[in-house]
Amino acid sequence: MKKCIRCGRMVPDDTKVCESCAFDFDEYEKYKHLYVTEEDPIVPEEQQSSLVDNPILCFIFGIISFILMALFLFHPNIVVIYLLGVFVFAFLAYVFSVKLAKVKLIPFQVVGKWLANIAVSVSIFKLVFFLIRSIIK
Ligand SMILES: [Zn+2]
Repeated sequence: MKKCIRCGRMVPDDTKVCESCAFDFDEYEKYKHLYVTEEDPIVPEEQQSSLVDNPILCFIFGIISFILMALFLFHPNIVVIYLLGVFVFAFLAYVFSVKLAKVKLIPFQVVGKWLANIAVSVSIFKLVFFLIRSIIK
């Protein structure tokens, strides 16, 4: 016996087409490699909400570090509080980007992480640029 992928009913192993929902097993086997089916991570009941919170927090912290990077970049001088903010919020974004999340919300984690990556690299770029310029002067 095997389980029908679409309707979940148990059907004999040699079934080609599901009797109750007409799911085509042959077709599925043929094209299975084309789509990756990922499932949400399994966590205890009391941690279910963290699967939603983790990617959203990662996304929010990524945005905050990105905004602080913009403030840092366009300010004519080096403002330490903005720089620190970039690193702190980027770090928080990284922390939440490696935690478990619902499959549908993983894009939020990816975007949050990349916003943090860009924020950190641009900030370091300005810092190095500023240092070199002050040495040359
Ligand atoms: Zn079925």
